[in-house]
Amino acid sequence: MLARRLPIAPAPVAGEWLGSWVGRAAFTLGLSQAQFLRTVGVSDAGSLPSHGIAVTDSTAAHLAEATGLTPATVTAMTFEPYAAAIDIPDRPLKPAQLRQWQAGQWVSVFASRFCPLCVADLPVLKTKWRFGLVGVCRVHHVLLVDVCPACGRRPRSVQSRQIGRVAASPTPLDPAQCGNLITGPGRIDGRCRQTLGAVETVIVRQTVADRQHAVLGGMDSRHRALWGRREEPWVVARTGRFLVALVRAVAIPGEVEALLPDDAVADAVPVILRSVRPSELLSGPLSAVEAAALTSLLAALFADAEALSSGGFVQRWLARARRSGVLQGLSREGAVDGVSAPVARLVDHVWEGSRG
Ligand SMILES: [Zn+2]
Ligand SMILES: [Zn+2]
Repeated sequence: MLARRLPIAPAPVAGEWLGSWVGRAAFTLGLSQAQFLRTVGVSDAGSLPSHGIAVTDSTAAHLAEATGLTPATVTAMTFEPYAAAIDIPDRPLKPAQLRQWQAGQWVSVFASRFCPLCVADLPVLKTKWRFGLVGVCRVHHVLLVDVCPACGRRPRSVQSRQIGRVAASPTPLDPAQCGNLITGPGRIDGRCRQTLGAVETVIVRQTVADRQHAVLGGMDSRHRALWGRREEPWVVARTGRFLVALVRAVAIPGEVEALLPDDAVADAVPVILRSVRPSELLSGPLSAVEAAALTSLLAALFADAEALSSGGFVQRWLARARRSGVLQGLSREGAVDGVSAPVARLVDHVWEGSRG
């Protein structure tokens, strides 16, 4: 289909997620997202706003042509800029694969956290808010909100089985509102009208926001510093996930307290050390507060020059994990694959000790 040039389309905001921009563009024109996408000639209308992981060249070209953007600007609103930190699938994923993919990458394509203060300024959802470890707004120093207080679900929630149907919803969706479908018994009877910008916030310390930035700030860049080495962002991400699993499995409260030497520690320890089943050791944080606690912990660990040394935290946890059999499980699940080389060597060293 030949794309039509639209009379008005809002300019994307830096860091805006594609689904957010599509929603705003549609609303500006008084269209539903499905109508908007059909108008610009995008045929995979069902998958585009709900996934936003990547777009095909033809989708980017159609959106760009109709709205006056460049294809590169469209692509920049997906997860593509973070391809150095997360694995971008090279083809569209089915809902079941999508669930598995996002669980492994610690991202969310089915819903978004949000900062009410940012949204009150401008009804825009940012791509970064979909990263599991992003729990804090760095501009406003508040926890991101996990759940809409009115409907009790993550805003813009999409069920697997609704993928493709959400875009088909005939009504324009106000980007300032939650918009979740509220379903009565067996039928759809409306949308949640909660104004996202009016949701209450929880203030955090500057250090919590700074530590999140120290861990995640370079996800869209080529290299990060990790214990004095320059590493690719995906190595930092995998190392972080492995260390979180180790901490969950074997760390004790005193060790976490030693790594978080400020007042926030009392709240963070139980969140970090919540009991998880062995199968959940590698899962992403469930909430913004857990994300904030984990990035605080990882920032402290990454900044600790002694962490990998003999008797340092990592070596201590590895030895404990070896004795309890956890290390075997993590190795079997590939959790050690791709971690920073010094950590991988340490794992080998401890592992050899177990065989000797
Ligand atoms: Zn904010
Ligand atoms: Zn809601």
